[in-house]
Amino acid sequence: MAVYRAPAQVAARQQVRLSLLLNFLAQGSTLYAPSLRKQWDGPLQLHSLPVVKKTELMERFDEWVVDPDITLRGLRDFVADPARIAEPYLGKYVVWESSGSSGQSALFVQDAYAMSIYDALESLRHVPRAPVLCGAGLAQMQQRIAFVGVTTGHFASIVQMRRMQTLYPWAAQASCNISILQPMASLVQELNAFAPTVVATYPSVAVALADQQERGALHIAPHALWTGGETLSAAARARVAGVMHCAVRDHYGASEFLSIASECSHGHLHANTDWLILEPVDDKFHPVPAGTASATTLLTHLGNRIQPLLRYDLGDQVTVSTEPCECGSALPVIHVAGRCDPPLKMRGCNGEPVTLLPLALTTVLEEQARLYEFQLHQQDDQTLVLQVPQTGKQAGAALRRACSVLEAFVHLQGATSARVTPRQGATLQRGKSGKAPRVIAA
Ligand SMILES: [Zn+2]
Repeated sequence: MAVYRAPAQVAARQQVRLSLLLNFLAQGSTLYAPSLRKQWDGPLQLHSLPVVKKTELMERFDEWVVDPDITLRGLRDFVADPARIAEPYLGKYVVWESSGSSGQSALFVQDAYAMSIYDALESLRHVPRAPVLCGAGLAQMQQRIAFVGVTTGHFASIVQMRRMQTLYPWAAQASCNISILQPMASLVQELNAFAPTVVATYPSVAVALADQQERGALHIAPHALWTGGETLSAAARARVAGVMHCAVRDHYGASEFLSIASECSHGHLHANTDWLILEPVDDKFHPVPAGTASATTLLTHLGNRIQPLLRYDLGDQVTVSTEPCECGSALPVIHVAGRCDPPLKMRGCNGEPVTLLPLALTTVLEEQARLYEFQLHQQDDQTLVLQVPQTGKQAGAALRRACSVLEAFVHLQGATSARVTPRQGATLQRGKSGKAPRVIAA
């Protein structure tokens, strides 16, 4: 993995990779060849290509993927089987699904080339270096890594963990996957029993774990806590680092590109722009200058030729820093605004506090109730209101079903008298950034 001394070196490497990718797609891609061939009289230009959204690409899935043996129907059958998590699809591809947090789930296919890029980025640009993708390194460094997240479903994090555990027998013994879809007390028990040196999880879960550690229920002594998947606020970072007495390292990735930015020793996220192109744009997809927060960001993946992502609307708000970082890296520093929902404090059957993790709640609604556009408002420590903007008979039935699924889940967590009530036709509350939080605490 190259170390760059100046931004111009990064830009040069980026251009070479872009040119190779566009030339490949001009010949091999059903989706992109027609528009790229129109440019045959000059060098192929990325900016003349249209912005694409997840919905349109999913609708044209079989044209989107370059290998005709990959089909949407085949992939849907594959991810419907939880026993096949991290199994090579067609004997050679790594597959994961996105959770559909933006209202539409998608499927992503990676070949060995793309996976080698992620592995290199995650192990070499993570500070301190991440042994997670090298089983032998994990054993030598006597690390014990606990992944605390959604462990069912073909999601990228668990696919990566299971892949590493299958590839390296040492890693299988030195790591574990702990589900957040279980009551906090049993989650804490599992973590205590495993005694991890590293915990990898979402910021909202890290905050809930810090609460448990402070209360004395959790008593682990990790030397590092890695976060990703949601925005880590400065306050959350300080709280977690202070209570857990460990380093907190953040990471910015997506199902579309696992390691978009890696955190340096100065606590800044550096975008891996030798392997991707990020275009921060306004709501009309015009570029915004460095120092200005974008409305959304377009991603071009320079390492995935199987399922190309060119000017793909990622939906994240990114600000590129105007200042170089003191760490000396020539890769640009970015700030990412995103979702950062708080854990909900509910009341248990004997009046004891019960913590509900926002990611667990949203996962239950998405995976079990197939509800994607909603806002969950906590009224008090016994009442949650599930709001959706849709109206009508069908939406009403889906909403009532989702309420009973969620209520059953909340009861299992220990909040046995909690109620989840439905509300249709609601205007979803939005923050300053325009993004609607999915879980709102009382
Ligand atoms: Zn830096």
